[in-house]
Amino acid sequence: MQHKVTFIPGDGIGPEVAKATQRVLEATGVQFQWDTAIIGSQAQDIFGTPLPESALKSIRENRVALKGPVTTPIGSGFRSVNVALRKELDLYACLRPCKTYPGVPTRYENVDIVVVRENTEDLYSGIEFAMNSPETMKLLKFITQTTGEKVKGDSAISLKLISQSASERIVKFAFEYARKNSRKKVTVVHKANILKFSDGLFLDIARQVAEEYPKIEFTDILLDAACMQLVRKPEQFDVLILPNFYGDFISDLCAGLVGGLGLAPGANIGRNIAIFEPTHGSAPKYAGENKANPIAMMLSGVMMLRHLGEKDSADKLGRAIAEIIAEGKNVTYDLKLNPEDSTTAGTSQVADAIIGKLR
Ligand code: NAD
Repeated sequence: MQHKVTFIPGDGIGPEVAKATQRVLEATGVQFQWDTAIIGSQAQDIFGTPLPESALKSIRENRVALKGPVTTPIGSGFRSVNVALRKELDLYACLRPCKTYPGVPTRYENVDIVVVRENTEDLYSGIEFAMNSPETMKLLKFITQTTGEKVKGDSAISLKLISQSASERIVKFAFEYARKNSRKKVTVVHKANILKFSDGLFLDIARQVAEEYPKIEFTDILLDAACMQLVRKPEQFDVLILPNFYGDFISDLCAGLVGGLGLAPGANIGRNIAIFEPTHGSAPKYAGENKANPIAMMLSGVMMLRHLGEKDSADKLGRAIAEIIAEGKNVTYDLKLNPEDSTTAGTSQVADAIIGKLR
């Protein structure tokens, strides 16, 4: 069976890691029909918008996309097209597995954590009010009137929105993931001691949903304690559920535990649509240098194969990647103890070596 998949190469290192991933996926023997779509600054230049309707239409039709990282301009320019894509397609669950691979120079062994991050709200709602704008002044006045709190007149405001419905569906997603993948424990990470209403709501809902899954151990932990425990004893964690904002940096932290962003795959999943993409960004300083590690994106491709029902090919590709990592020869600079090592491979050589294992 041929699978129609929207292919978004992205920018920066995106096109290189995406091409390498496309090659190894094709080498599994699975048949793909790729429908290439452009988003981000390239799309802004061509279509006058960073998120053109043609890209959204392709993803809606195919229901599956493989995506490279896309740069977000800092401060000015368009808002994150990655965030916009997740919101537009209601891809409410971000799934980021972080697992230690034998052969990776890292401080920890036996880490196998799955981060489940809420993807649509929280501080990423994109609702912000600039300092001194008339709306901000109105809002500050309203806050003073309703709470009696003296707020500084030169404040800017970013809203943290946590809803009952979005919290419920992400927590259910995490427990269902745990059930289907024989995971033993789910931990919700929050700051409900300080953010009593927003994180408090998230935690309450997690506790309620947990009761429906008596066979899965449920715990909760404050964000600060979670950071300390993750770097002290990461093997105590299994599935983590987090609101959007904390999920962003905790997933990078977990990637660091297992050897870095070059090994951290991900998926953004909604009711009918799933986009598979690595956790890392476009690392512009390495763009065009055939230097970036394609394995995070390849592992996202393995997740995509499973999603498409291609279990045997997913297992085969997963094994080939693990073998290449364990051999430690055909890997990129970030997986070498000495990055100047003369055997350090480039992006495309990693793909060649993995394809060699698949033959
Ligand atoms: P980044 O993940 O791009 O890079 C941080 C550092 O991690 C790099 O400098 C590099 O040293 C290392 N790194 C990342 N990926 C690597 C790889 N595959 N192989 C080897 N080393 C790798 O983070 P950043 O610099 O904060 O972000 C750059 C741009 O990417 C920003 O515009 C950001 O908004 C965007 N971004 C996009 C996505 C996405 O498309 N989903 C995700 C995160 C960041």
